[in-house]
Amino acid sequence: MEKLFDNKVALVTGAASGIGQAAAILYARYGAKVVVSDINEEGGNETIAMIQKEGGDASFIKADISKAADCKNLIADTIGKYGRLDAACNNAGIGGEQGPVSEMSTENWHKVIGINLTGVFYCMKYEIEAMKNNGGGAIVNISSILGSVGFQGAAAYVAAKHGVVGLTRAAALDHAADNVRVNAIGPAFIDTPLISSMKGEALEMLKSLHPMGRLGTSEEVGELITWLTSSKASFATGSYYPLDGGYLAR
Ligand code: NAD
Repeated sequence: MEKLFDNKVALVTGAASGIGQAAAILYARYGAKVVVSDINEEGGNETIAMIQKEGGDASFIKADISKAADCKNLIADTIGKYGRLDAACNNAGIGGEQGPVSEMSTENWHKVIGINLTGVFYCMKYEIEAMKNNGGGAIVNISSILGSVGFQGAAAYVAAKHGVVGLTRAAALDHAADNVRVNAIGPAFIDTPLISSMKGEALEMLKSLHPMGRLGTSEEVGELITWLTSSKASFATGSYYPLDGGYLAR
């Protein structure tokens, strides 16, 4: 595999599971030293073991991205461990409650916005500062197809993911001159623990929303994450890249 990230350091939040775990493993295969972060220490250590088994270099740093102090410490500890930060994937997120706006609890609203949107801001704030210190870097924020269209029963999630797209564009403009690229990815429904509770008809209905007739895989999303933060994507900034089996083409 091409060593796109030789001598580079990559950070992935929410890397104990699903898309984040796949991205962390791919970063290591492409030669990066990887910081695996999550609130789930056990899952995070599983990701580390998977990377080390393949001969990669990875460290786990626990952080709750909805807390600014945790994000600050996460970046400081990354620099303490590896000395620099080149690539970051702000991926940690939750689905939240399902139901109409009129019945949604205010707690759910604040929790989903706190993790899925404010958490991305906190991470970027400290990541960009660190990247500027090593002459630049690249960030990918994980939005969703629901960053550009609605979905019944998921208002807080849809609002947060739309917010991530706007935040990405604004941050890219603010830091283009600093050589920090910032992009967002919009995956459609991906086969991860976030949606694995769905079975039978509900799962088939979900698949049918994708013209390709299936869900995406975490590895497919991981390839776009690593590409966008590599030197191959050197002119890409401020954009939103759906990855959706045709979902948004209808
Ligand atoms: P997942 O549940 O498998 O993984 C999410 C990870 O984030 C978990 O390991 C969890 O512990 C971690 N996490 C949750 N809250 C956190 C917090 N406060 N601080 C740090 N870590 C936290 O989910 P996934 O499907 O891999 O989702 C990853 C990202 O992709 C999310 O942002 C999600 O919204 C987005 N996404 C998922 C899909 C999908 O269909 N699975 C589609 C589009 C976008």
